[in-house]
Amino acid sequence: MARSLTLLGATGSIGASTLDLVRRNPDDWRVEALTANCSAGELAALAREFGAKIAVVGDEACLPELRDALAGSGIEAAGGVEALCEAASRAVDMTVAAIVGTAGLAPTMKAVERGGTIALANKEALVSAGDVMTAAVAQHGATLLPTDSEHNAIFQCLAGNEIEDVARITLTASGGPLRTWPIERIATATPAEAIAHPNWSMGAKISVDSATMMNKGLEFIEAHHLFPVGLQRLRIVVHPQSVIHSMVEYRDRSTLAQLGPSDMRVPIASCLAYPARMETPLEPLDLASIGQLTFEAPDETRFPATRLAREAIQQGGGAPATLNAANEVAVAAFLDGRVAFGQITQIVEETLATLSAPSPGSMNDVLALDADARAMAENLVENRFV
Ligand code: NAD
Ligand code: MG
Repeated sequence: MARSLTLLGATGSIGASTLDLVRRNPDDWRVEALTANCSAGELAALAREFGAKIAVVGDEACLPELRDALAGSGIEAAGGVEALCEAASRAVDMTVAAIVGTAGLAPTMKAVERGGTIALANKEALVSAGDVMTAAVAQHGATLLPTDSEHNAIFQCLAGNEIEDVARITLTASGGPLRTWPIERIATATPAEAIAHPNWSMGAKISVDSATMMNKGLEFIEAHHLFPVGLQRLRIVVHPQSVIHSMVEYRDRSTLAQLGPSDMRVPIASCLAYPARMETPLEPLDLASIGQLTFEAPDETRFPATRLAREAIQQGGGAPATLNAANEVAVAAFLDGRVAFGQITQIVEETLATLSAPSPGSMNDVLALDADARAMAENLVENRFV
């Protein structure tokens, strides 16, 4: 029987990978809701192709265009944050949370509060909301299936084992496109250079995060919430080939690793089919042609972001939400050409040092912290870093 699916962030990179798998298995899925920020024409075309019941744009200004594009289709059109939340509250078998940034928090929390099964790609939501989200997951009996490739790898390596037996979880990092660059050159990397990821094709924001290594910092915090083994048991290792997606070492010194092509359709398929397996259109892994798997320690002098993230989660309270919000602002400013690459982590560090963020007790507290940190980071962009 077909299972129902809502895809938050349908027009993005994760959205496209998800829909590619759905398109190949049309009898397995019935699409309820598809959402985007704007991209009304593209969203409408997807909604028509997949026979969605509703299409939602987060930006209400794009609703008239969406309505026009859906005219005569019988597909409902809606716009605004409330509409995203309404769509995310609808009963479905699977929600794929693939909005980028804390813009995805409120709709993802609606799916959590419904007690749904959520394939979580939207790491920023979990990084900012942290315990607020994991407590809601427990309270409402929701299921989070980690979709981020590293966390999906860890999830697979934990299957059939006890979390108490874990000695160490190692997140692998490609090191990004600037991995071998000297520090002076990193400081002035352009958006085109920062986005040119060697192994993965992704949205602009996460591509910049991979170049600064903030992506791995966010993933360190994400791993802490998904797999509560304690911060001292979480490690990062740079593995430029991105073949091993992460590893779990047990107390007997057995290490389990998950390997696969660097294509998000693999972890997405693992979530969509969970606990079963499904086909993906990818070539089998050819280790002989890959030849070598190499590893190196992260260099936090050239790439301070993992240190900032580790300090933020050690500090706890509202620090991770502050880190994330400042990073979102700084990355957007970098992509707009308003700050230099090297200033991204400086803005994050300075926002963290300036703002004393109390521990959030609810999603509204998280959103308030997020707004404060954004205002502070914007202020730094405007007044200090131009
Ligand atoms: P993307 O930029 O390609 O797509 C983002 C999607 O979110 C789009 O559909 C966009 O319309 C929507 N969106 C953006 N702002 C919005 C807003 N304010 N309101 C409503 N919708 C909004 O991003 P992506 O690369 O697909 O990443 C999505 C999420 O998945 C991110 O959290 C990212 O960190 C995570 N992730 C991505 C990858 C990857 O390979 N792309 C891998 C692991 C995790
Ligand atoms: Mg990842």
